[in-house]
Amino acid sequence: MTYDPDNIFAKILRGELPCAKLYEDAETFVFLDIMPRADGHCLVIPKTPCRNILDASPAQMAAVMATTQKMARAVMAAFDAPGVTLQQFNEAAGGQEVFHLHVHVLPRHDGDRLRPPGQMADPEVLAGHAEKIRAALAQI
Ligand code: AMP
Repeated sequence: MTYDPDNIFAKILRGELPCAKLYEDAETFVFLDIMPRADGHCLVIPKTPCRNILDASPAQMAAVMATTQKMARAVMAAFDAPGVTLQQFNEAAGGQEVFHLHVHVLPRHDGDRLRPPGQMADPEVLAGHAEKIRAALAQI
């Protein structure tokens, strides 16, 4: 399995597609999922190419997980959530649809249920959520 440089997240990284950006550092980039299964659902990706955890280097894994921890804290604070769920899928059989490594970070409340997949969010709502999360990040 090879990396396709024209996958959606590679295009977002190159600025060829828009996104609700939340955070970036030298190794990682974070933006809101366009079909959020919970308010604040975001995606953490490495800036360098890899399909998933199967071809990622230890350095890519470490960078993505460090940023995932940061984003878990930020989305919990932004949405006053007592919990957080991480999801991570590898290859089609594992549920992966976009073949650039990513970790889903979803703030969770007691007894809530994730929305069904595939429901596009209103861009204005996403922009408001992004602002809340960026503000929370600034406090961390
Ligand atoms: P998966 O590969 O199964 O982890 O799923 C890919 C995720 O990417 C899904 O949750 C989609 O909603 C999300 N997604 C697809 N296209 C975009 C996009 N242009 N911007 C933000 N998220 C996206």
